[in-house]
Amino acid sequence: MKTLLPTSTAGSLPKPSWLAEPETLWSPWKLQGEELISGKQDALRLSLQQQQLAGIDIVSDGEQSRQHFVTTFIEHLSGVDFNKRKTVRIRNRYDASVPTVVGPVSRPKPVFVADAKFLRAQTTQPIKWALPGPMTMIDTLHDDHYKSREQLAWEFAKILNQEAKELEAAGVDIIQFDEPAFNVFFDEVNEWGIKCLERAIEGLKCETAVHICYGYGIKANTDWKKTLGSEWRQYEAVFPKLQQSNIDIISLECHNSHVPIELLELIRGKKVMVGAIDVATDTIETPEQVAATLRKALQYVDADKLYPCTNCGMAPLSRDVATGKLNALAAGAEIVRNELLAR
Ligand SMILES: [Zn+2]
Repeated sequence: MKTLLPTSTAGSLPKPSWLAEPETLWSPWKLQGEELISGKQDALRLSLQQQQLAGIDIVSDGEQSRQHFVTTFIEHLSGVDFNKRKTVRIRNRYDASVPTVVGPVSRPKPVFVADAKFLRAQTTQPIKWALPGPMTMIDTLHDDHYKSREQLAWEFAKILNQEAKELEAAGVDIIQFDEPAFNVFFDEVNEWGIKCLERAIEGLKCETAVHICYGYGIKANTDWKKTLGSEWRQYEAVFPKLQQSNIDIISLECHNSHVPIELLELIRGKKVMVGAIDVATDTIETPEQVAATLRKALQYVDADKLYPCTNCGMAPLSRDVATGKLNALAAGAEIVRNELLAR
């Protein structure tokens, strides 16, 4: 990446109201068949334009073609029965009715590769593509087949690697794995979670990222955050091993969170996507607030390794709020970029 402080988003952006109910997770599609396919492509174009107009450097599909960052990927796999549902606790936080693993899991055909090719054809800018991480995938399923979280995660890692290699061939520059579960199951992360992630990126030549956040701005997450106390040290448990891992970029929640920023010292040497936009509030940050977060991070992240970003996806926000936040992110990065260049 040649641009200093290249901006990007963690992933999802709001969908247009003609495609899906706004400000809702798991919102059902409003179109069907061929209309849905072209509707998703139109939404992707709009989402790309929204990022480009704001001046975002590394663009994405805004996750316009998926209902949910984990579920949509799993829907395309065999071995998972979506009609056989069980209620489980997601990341020790909230109950959800989830599908069941009933046999060996596999990927009969590519999941997002056509969408990635479509995005690639729309822009020459660097593009980032998000996939769910293996540990976060197993946490949204009931397993009646492997009966081992580690083994199921390993199988998913192999499948993700197939998908990632095809995304890379489609011209994706950065492949990101979303692992909010890394903020919850610390022992497992250190025992096998990071190993599974490294299996998922095996043989890739493009850049790779892992996104670890405190979740979307939905009530279950904001309620959970209230129980975490005044200092959030969750990252501390997994940073030392992540620093040693093969993953190139670590995407984190930093703005308005109670994460002590000095924890970033533990991943010194890695590229860091610094979350400088709070996705759990409709209040739009000022460029100066974004700049302040980036300046703090610069104490622990070398300037050529700092990637200004959002704390998490913005799917549950209104389009106007998301646009305002994208503009603030780009403007805040520009302030700090100019300061660095003036030195
Ligand atoms: Zn997130």
